[in-house]
Amino acid sequence: MSEPSRLPSRIAQKLAERQQQGLHRSVKAFHHQDGKLIDEHNNTYLNFSGNDYLGLANDPALISAWQDGLSLYGAGSTASPLVTGFSHAHQALEVSLCDWLGFDKALLFNSGFSANQAVIFSLLEKGDVLFQDKLNHASLMEAGILSEATMLRFLHNNTAKLDSALKNQSEAPSRFVITEGVFSMDGDLSPLADIDVVCRANEACLMVDDAHGIGVLGKEGRGSCDNAGIQPDILIVTFGKAFGMMGAAVMCSAQVHDYLTQFARHYVYSTAMPPAQAYALSKAVSMIRKDNWRREKLHELSSRFHRVLSEHHEVVETQTPIKPAVLGDVTTMLTAAEHLKSAGFWTGAIRPPTVPPNSSRLRITLSVNQTLDDVNALACKLRHILEGDRHE
Ligand SMILES: *Cc1c(COP(=O)(O)O)cnc(C)c1O
Repeated sequence: MSEPSRLPSRIAQKLAERQQQGLHRSVKAFHHQDGKLIDEHNNTYLNFSGNDYLGLANDPALISAWQDGLSLYGAGSTASPLVTGFSHAHQALEVSLCDWLGFDKALLFNSGFSANQAVIFSLLEKGDVLFQDKLNHASLMEAGILSEATMLRFLHNNTAKLDSALKNQSEAPSRFVITEGVFSMDGDLSPLADIDVVCRANEACLMVDDAHGIGVLGKEGRGSCDNAGIQPDILIVTFGKAFGMMGAAVMCSAQVHDYLTQFARHYVYSTAMPPAQAYALSKAVSMIRKDNWRREKLHELSSRFHRVLSEHHEVVETQTPIKPAVLGDVTTMLTAAEHLKSAGFWTGAIRPPTVPPNSSRLRITLSVNQTLDDVNALACKLRHILEGDRHE
C-alpha cells in the first residue's frame, strides 16, 4: 500500500544521482539566426553542434516551399494516413524519394525514432534474432530491447564477428541485421559493402539507418548505401538532419510496405505529418539532388578542419561532417567546451550514457552555414586547448 509514495522518492534519488555524476542536463532556448546561435543572455555563438549539414533549415527556397504548402493544403493533415490524413503532397514525396533512392516504396513517419520502432516491433517476432552494431542509435537499441526478438550486439563495424554471430544463429526463423550508415557520435562509416556480403551469405535481412549519411554522401546525396554500392532490404531516411526539417521514411519493397501499412502501429495510429511539410520535403529532395555545391563545400570545410588538427589524436579524421574530439572524462570535456564557448563556438558536449563511459567528447559538426574562416578559427582554438592539456 506504500507503493504510491515510493515513486516520488525514487524520482528524487535518480535525479540526485545524475547530479552527482555530473551528467544532469537541461534544455536551453536558443534563437537561430543565419546559422548562428543566440542564447538567453544575448550571447552569439557560431553553431558547431547541429545536424543541419547542408544548411537547408534556414534556406529561403525551402522556407517559401513550406509557406506555399500551407496555402495549398492548410495547417494539418487532420487524420492518420489510413483514415484521410494521406494527401497528394504525401504521395508526391513518396514518389520522389523512390525515384531518388531506387526503392519500390516509401512509407512516411513523423520521426526517425518512431520509424525505427515501427519496423523493429512489427517485422520481428519471438524466436527471431536481431543483430545490431554496438554503437547503433538509442532509438534502434531501445526498440531492439523492447521487441520480442532476441537482440545480439556485435562489435562496432566488425564484419567477422557479425558473420560468426549469424552462423551461430542459423536455426532462427528470421535474422535481421541493423547498422547505421554513418555513426552519429563518431562520424565513421559502416563497412556496408562487406556487411551486405555477410548478410547475403547468411540469408539475413539488412536494414541501414542512414540518418547522417543521406544528403551528405553518394551521388546526388543518395547516402551511405549509394556510396558503398549496395541496396539494403530496408533503408531508414530521416528528415531531421541534412533535410533541415523533421520526419522520416522507410524505404522498402512493395510487400514490406504493404505489411507495415497493416501492422506498424506507429504508422496506423498516428496523425500523418502536415501535407505542407510533405510538400516542403519534396522541395528539399530536389535541392539535395541538385545542389552539389553544398557537398563540395562540406568537403572543403572538412579538409581545412583536419589540416589544422592533424597532429592531435583526439580528433580522428572522418569523411563526414561529424568531427568528434574524444577527451575522455566528463570534466575535461566540459572544460574544453566552456573554453570554446567563451571564444564564441558552440559545440556538442556529449557524455555517457549517450556514449560509452570515459569517451566523453565534443561533437563538432560542420555545416554549409559556416565559412572556411569560421572553421579555421574553431580548429585553431581547439588545437590551442588540446596543446594546453598536453603541457599540464
Ligand atoms: C537522429 C537519429 C534518429 C532519430 O531520428 P529523429 O527523426 O530525430 O527521431 C534515428 N537514427 C539515427 C541514427 C539518428 O541519428
